Amino acid sequence: MSDTEVENIIIIGGGPAGYTAALYAARAELNPLVFEGFQWGGQLQNTTDVENFPGFPEGIMGPEMMTRFRDQAERFGTRFVTDDVDKVELTDGGIHKVYLGDEVHHAKTVILAMGAEPKRLGIPGEMEMAGRGVSTCGVCDGAFFKDRSTMVIGGGDSAMEDAVFISKFASSLDLVHRRDEFRASKIMQERAESLPNISLKTPWAPEEFVAGEDGALEKVRLKHSESGEVEEIPVDGVFVAIGHIPRSELVVGQVDTDDEGYVKTEAASTKTNLAGVFAIGDLVDHTYRQAVTAAGSGCKGALDAEWYLRDATF
Ligand code: NAP
Repeated sequence: MSDTEVENIIIIGGGPAGYTAALYAARAELNPLVFEGFQWGGQLQNTTDVENFPGFPEGIMGPEMMTRFRDQAERFGTRFVTDDVDKVELTDGGIHKVYLGDEVHHAKTVILAMGAEPKRLGIPGEMEMAGRGVSTCGVCDGAFFKDRSTMVIGGGDSAMEDAVFISKFASSLDLVHRRDEFRASKIMQERAESLPNISLKTPWAPEEFVAGEDGALEKVRLKHSESGEVEEIPVDGVFVAIGHIPRSELVVGQVDTDDEGYVKTEAASTKTNLAGVFAIGDLVDHTYRQAVTAAGSGCKGALDAEWYLRDATF
């Protein structure tokens, strides 16, 4: 496509939301173009068994599921660019521009589906030992810690869910939270507390992940939030479960976002404050962040874009 041609729909993001939007848009004969990112497939690329996506009673591996999503969108003519968008120039009801370096693509509608990524603590050792004892995905990596000592950091539902899952494998699990009160729902907290190999440790905050001689995690240095006392706990694996950050940096300042950076959409729709720009999936979702909810919102995004195009006078 030359610089002056105008796409009906550009979708930015290659997770369950983006691919579902592409499927719907392609079947509506809108010939969508998806910038799926260099690491296409989204967070499910880092997941093993997915057992909660309806239609797969035996479960399916995350990467295999994303390949199927992608294939299904491709079957109806979706075009993919396996690269990261550098810049966008969004308008209110006009033609939008999407840049890959100096290459510009024009579109009547843009669907934002960039997803979210796990929050990091920002302490020494965290990045250095990623995959060597430090993980942000309990569901992905919990099974590697069979009969080993583990720790989960966080006080929300994600931390509780990770702890319950990992405790099926681990011999022991310290659930470390920086306050005495948990943000998690009562039921999730009680479920974690009831398990014999889980111990709650509050109010302690992690200060450093310390490596052993082999470079893998050996212990976690914690600091008491009130007394300042420092303690080192030997563990084989630590899971950081302190929430997610929406990947909205590309559009912050152009579309309305909330205090945490999630793109704001009109109630019960995927419309942003800019006409012709829609947002879907984890980029807008504080709460559910499931493959099935992201896919559902992808469907909504494509339909919203289709209806917008039907009524627009370009
Ligand atoms: P969250 O509710 O925002 O909780 C994040 C936790 O991490 C908080 O307890 C927070 O501590 C702690 N934290 C944040 N930054 C930290 C730091 N730098 N150092 C130490 N601790 C830090 O996030 P979430 O648990 O991912 O849940 C997000 C949403 O998804 C929630 O609405 C949740 O209900 C939902 N969710 C639901 C389920 C389920 O129902 N199955 C499962 C997972 C998630 P403070 O409390 O001190 O701020």
